Amino acid sequence: MNALTGIDLELAKTKLSGFSVSGLATWMIAPDLDLCFDMGECPLSALPMNHVFLTHAHGDHSRCLLRHDALRRMIGINKEGVYYLPEEIYETAIDWIKAGAWFEGSRAKNPKVPKLIPLVSQPAGSEPIRLHYRDNLSVRPFKVDHGVPSLGYTIYDSRLKLKQKYHGLKGAKLAQLKREGVRIEAPLHTPRLTFIGDCTADTLWRENEIWESKILVIESTFIATGEEALARKRGHTHLNEVAQIMREQADMIECEAIVLKHFSMKVKPLEALEAALKVIPARFHDRVYLLTHLPKSMQGQSLAELAWQGI
Ligand SMILES: [Zn+2]
Ligand SMILES: [Zn+2]
Repeated sequence: MNALTGIDLELAKTKLSGFSVSGLATWMIAPDLDLCFDMGECPLSALPMNHVFLTHAHGDHSRCLLRHDALRRMIGINKEGVYYLPEEIYETAIDWIKAGAWFEGSRAKNPKVPKLIPLVSQPAGSEPIRLHYRDNLSVRPFKVDHGVPSLGYTIYDSRLKLKQKYHGLKGAKLAQLKREGVRIEAPLHTPRLTFIGDCTADTLWRENEIWESKILVIESTFIATGEEALARKRGHTHLNEVAQIMREQADMIECEAIVLKHFSMKVKPLEALEAALKVIPARFHDRVYLLTHLPKSMQGQSLAELAWQGI
């Protein structure tokens, strides 16, 4: 298992590549969206991504943040990367970055700090924040329960849409209204991808909006029956809790794909698959994917596709 080698997925017309093992490293790249989530390792394929979203400060999610910035410059990417992170860790991130520069021998009193953008949780339904380099994408950060300051992120496709009351008007009339300064369009935000780093199942119950995202990436650190309380105590989610939400809230789950990641180092990929096939309700098998290092020919397939192959 190599934390620099991602698993490729193509879900709901979105390409993703990622690695996630609890305590070891978590990162996920969405090249079409010009972004990555977390930087527990920094594969070369992450370097062209101009937006990085850090969920929390634990080393397996944050360790290579500076490396991303430094390597970009080394390979000649001059555009400034943008690093989003929870507001509570903004000041300590700056201290950490400066200490890193001094550790490497910098004598600058104020070593250069990459562009950090602190974010705070925004209520469901609020206007999302436009991405720094992308007019057609925006983000809503939301609070995540994990024992340390932590945010989840929903990325929206954002565009302007003609307001209902102007439907049916001819193009010339609409152009005239526009010239007169009438705002005939309103922003429309469609939730495309939600990523949560680490969290307890409470977050998954409380943040109902996450289940409207086309793609939802959540954690499932523990899988063994009987370890539910341990998962909660450590600030993590148990596979059985994910299954319970799917059973009890099936009708509100609109996701086209749900990715489970961050399995414990003790969990073997085939064990994760076996447990998921057993506890995840059958009606969701064609929408659930595991981000774990199954044999190559089995990667990137839904539970249903794997089950059809007689696994
Ligand atoms: Zn973690
Ligand atoms: Zn963590």
